[in-house]
Amino acid sequence: MTASRPIPYVGRFAPSPTGPLHAGSLVAALASYLDAKYHDGTWLVRIEDIDEGRSVAGAADGILALLDALGMHADGDIVWQSQRKHLYQAAAERIVQDTYPCGCNRREIADSRLGFAPDGAAIYPGTCRHGLGPGRTMRSQRVRVPDAGQDEISFVDRFAGRHTQHLARDSGDFVLKRADGFWAYQLAVVVDDWEQGVTDVVRGADLLDSTPRQIYLQRLLGAPTPRYLHVPVVRNANGEKLSKQTGALAVTVEDEPAAVAALLGAAQALGLVLDAALGPSASRQDFWRAAVPAWGRLLAQCEMPTPAA
Ligand code: GLU
Repeated sequence: MTASRPIPYVGRFAPSPTGPLHAGSLVAALASYLDAKYHDGTWLVRIEDIDEGRSVAGAADGILALLDALGMHADGDIVWQSQRKHLYQAAAERIVQDTYPCGCNRREIADSRLGFAPDGAAIYPGTCRHGLGPGRTMRSQRVRVPDAGQDEISFVDRFAGRHTQHLARDSGDFVLKRADGFWAYQLAVVVDDWEQGVTDVVRGADLLDSTPRQIYLQRLLGAPTPRYLHVPVVRNANGEKLSKQTGALAVTVEDEPAAVAALLGAAQALGLVLDAALGPSASRQDFWRAAVPAWGRLLAQCEMPTPAA
């Protein structure tokens, strides 16, 4: 039986090809795939190669091949952010009145000592809000956030519950177009989720704190806000988030048992309880048959009620 969620459901997995898929990103992929399948939905894959400086040649192909080998097939064409810059440009033009040119460099912003947003971005003190100072040239383009008092963004995450930020305090005016000329992730993700008709974003909790900025951009653009479900990030024995920086190993799948083992590891990290223990000869199909209803049971225990629209 599927839950009573409005149809259609469109979900997505959106990896940045900065290296091979590791156990942490596999957990996010698995959660988004299971949620889509549990809701009889569509599951899309988008390669987030908008930050061309960080993209690693061949990484995207490796991620796509791995998803295929695990039995996670996208229900539509793969979308590449590097080929969609015209969409980001058009969106930025629509909200140009809410943006301004900024001439500050990283050091100047850090010197203001306002601290850092939870995702590590330095909080912008608003130096260029009322115009570039004499002799200063534009480096980046920023979005003006509402003043304190009108800057609250609050949403109910399906897993983490209510999450509230005050943009003026917690992020400040944030970057839409970067000093290196690339569009910021925050804009690209909002434009793509909208353009692809994504109804449900399921991803790692490291992006929970980016969500209010994304919701703010959705409101400026007149785009709908999808439902969000952020799954806990996977940590190593030292308590560090699994990532390339903390030395997370690439997931490799040389045969069917290795594929099942990788999937079982990710399922365990999510807290899925499969109703039948899968033996050493289990196939990927056996795994998926058991994992989809297990996701439903996990949701029944953990999911927050969706607030009335
Ligand atoms: N590309 C981001 C990442 O790999 C995920 C973005 C998202 O799911 O919104 O961390």
